Amino acid sequence: MAQPTSTNRGDGQICLSILIPMYNEAEMLQPLFSRLSQVLSSIPESSEIVFIDDGSSDKTWDLLQQLPVSSSEHQCIRLSRNFGKEAAMTAGLEQARGLAVILLDADLQDPPELIPQMLQAWREGFDVVNMKRRKRLGESWFKRLSAAAFYRVINSMAESPVPENVGDFRLISRQVVDSINELPERNRFMKGILSWPGFSQTEILFDRDPRHLGETKWNYSKLIGLAMDGITSFSIKPLRLATWAGLLTALSAFTYGGWVFLKTVLWGGEVAGYPSLMIVQVALAGVQLLALGLIGEYLGRVFMEVKQRPIYLIREVEQQQSTRTSVSH
Ligand code: UDP
Ligand code: MG
Repeated sequence: MAQPTSTNRGDGQICLSILIPMYNEAEMLQPLFSRLSQVLSSIPESSEIVFIDDGSSDKTWDLLQQLPVSSSEHQCIRLSRNFGKEAAMTAGLEQARGLAVILLDADLQDPPELIPQMLQAWREGFDVVNMKRRKRLGESWFKRLSAAAFYRVINSMAESPVPENVGDFRLISRQVVDSINELPERNRFMKGILSWPGFSQTEILFDRDPRHLGETKWNYSKLIGLAMDGITSFSIKPLRLATWAGLLTALSAFTYGGWVFLKTVLWGGEVAGYPSLMIVQVALAGVQLLALGLIGEYLGRVFMEVKQRPIYLIREVEQQQSTRTSVSH
């Protein structure tokens, strides 16, 4: 049922596309390619590898040109500068031709050996195969804790649940890819975007290895930005929370005011309370600024959206036929 019979872009010859966003991953390319091509040559489906060079400043692009011909077709897409992983994946999703698409990190944290298992689930009729991390190896306790808190917050706010500990490593069917490609927003919070279409989903558990070589391209300020993007682009509940906080503070202020009034009428009152006045003043100013900042976050995002700038720019595309295709033609 889930197996599509036709595809928007594809010529029907390519069954599986592997998308790999790469940013300064020159040293990873060899180990990645040898493991990946071994797996891809062992499966019966025709496949392509879509490398997206996200404006690397090292030798990534040159090395991509020198990759040997394999049983898969290669598409190398070079973006005009570093647009970020989310934009790179968007570019890849729009260029991919396969009936099933797998998103893979270049650092071998997502083992390519699981691809046959993912394909099996797809053949059974699932549109989305989420790869859930059993353990988060090689990550500090702080990162694990903040990740858990992030999933809790976003899932309590967003309408389409974001599966916990599922990264971008997943298989999605052509139908889902096409629906994602139709989403016009510039703000690409991929975890949310990938979960938004729904369709039939399944999960496979796996152990995520620590990064093979090189270092992570994320720092905490980037991660906080990503979390903020995620929450504000998939929910307006924080705005509602601000309304509730305003309502509550106003209510307690009125109650307290009533009490002061009564007290003065009944027992007479001496003028005092500079500290309490200060505290209330400062607390209210804080709440107001917070709410204002929150509105600003949304306003900023509206601004980004109305500008309608492209999500990425492509500098060049190189394609390489596979040994498989050249034999059959
Ligand atoms: N990446 C990218 N553009 C960026 C940052 C990262 O295309 O601006 C790619 C990177 O090359 C890798 C993947 O995204 O293939 C995941 O990056 P990384 O391993 O640094 O992230 P982590 O695994 O720490 O979340
Ligand atoms: Mg990584």
